[in-house]
Amino acid sequence: METKLWIVDNYVDKNEKYPQITQAAQLLKEGEVVAFPTETVYGLGADATCDRAVEKIFKAKGRPSDNPLIVHIAEREQLQALVGQISQKAEVLMDRFWPGPLTLIFKKKEGLSKLVTAGLDTVAVRMPDHPVAHSLIKESGLPIAAPSANTSGKPSPTLADHVKRDLYGKIAGIVDGGETGVGLESTVVDCTESIPVILRPGGITKEQLEETIGEVKIDAALQNEKEAPKSPGMKYTHYAPAASLTLVKGHPSFIQEQINQSKEKGLQVGVLTTEENQSFYQADHIETVGTAAHLETVAAKLYEALRNFDDQNVDVIFGEVFPEVGIGQAIMNRLMKAAGHRIIEE
Ligand code: AMP
Ligand code: MG
Repeated sequence: METKLWIVDNYVDKNEKYPQITQAAQLLKEGEVVAFPTETVYGLGADATCDRAVEKIFKAKGRPSDNPLIVHIAEREQLQALVGQISQKAEVLMDRFWPGPLTLIFKKKEGLSKLVTAGLDTVAVRMPDHPVAHSLIKESGLPIAAPSANTSGKPSPTLADHVKRDLYGKIAGIVDGGETGVGLESTVVDCTESIPVILRPGGITKEQLEETIGEVKIDAALQNEKEAPKSPGMKYTHYAPAASLTLVKGHPSFIQEQINQSKEKGLQVGVLTTEENQSFYQADHIETVGTAAHLETVAAKLYEALRNFDDQNVDVIFGEVFPEVGIGQAIMNRLMKAAGHRIIEE
């Protein structure tokens, strides 16, 4: 199929109309699938009320049908049509963090495509904080179901080029609004419990949530691989580069030992490190992701770095670990998945 490509400035004036966005919104209204930038990663959107449209998302991504989608809205008024009871804590979280990288789980109302919620009686909703996403959703006049715009299993796209590589020819259009901001997906919080539960760590940290509403729990599956996750998507392998990634907790000299051992076996070796540590290593390919002093910079570059390894001829990759504070929780959650939980400690 022909994939239309629109380039827009990632600064879009909310009061102006842009022909690119109008055309993309028109395709959404016609039941087509369009990729667009958000402040987390690129999303792959479709009319959340239409089975035929939502089905195309699952098909283009190769996404398992039991993995529900997040519904994206532009205005708070859109929420009433989608969800039942809204708790006081959910109201407070929305006031503080919307628009932004926070997804909330509510009891759902009828009206959405059953494919969106994968048979659950709850629905995940988020209001993205990106002018292009906002304008597109608003102009479509629809709730937009949108997972990350990557082939299932691959790292999420932080550039339109990543979307093109995975989905060109499989979707109706891509709105290119430049690089996304946070670089990791939204935090998913279940607000149907009296004490809200983090189902997926992301752009909004546990610390920020607790400052706002007091105690917040973490889904047991996030700390123990053997527990079944409450968020169906969390059980799938994800974000993995083609070469096998192993995380290494220890001094760079210990990581270099691992590199040397693989080199002795005749393997091509990649390293995932930070700006401050990159000069320590001798390897076939080195990818750097920001600085550990500002974990936000690591989050922003992580998926791009994981994807870049696929263009290199490496057989194995060794990656540094990061402190699990603030956005570090989300970074380590994604890295552990990308590594299939392989970790070596000094
Ligand atoms: P993605 O769209 O790729 O960012 O993935 C969306 C994430 O939200 C997945 O981990 C889903 O399992 C999760 N999710 C979506 N809807 C629900 C829901 N109703 N209950 C629990 N998790 C959900
Ligand atoms: Mg995804």
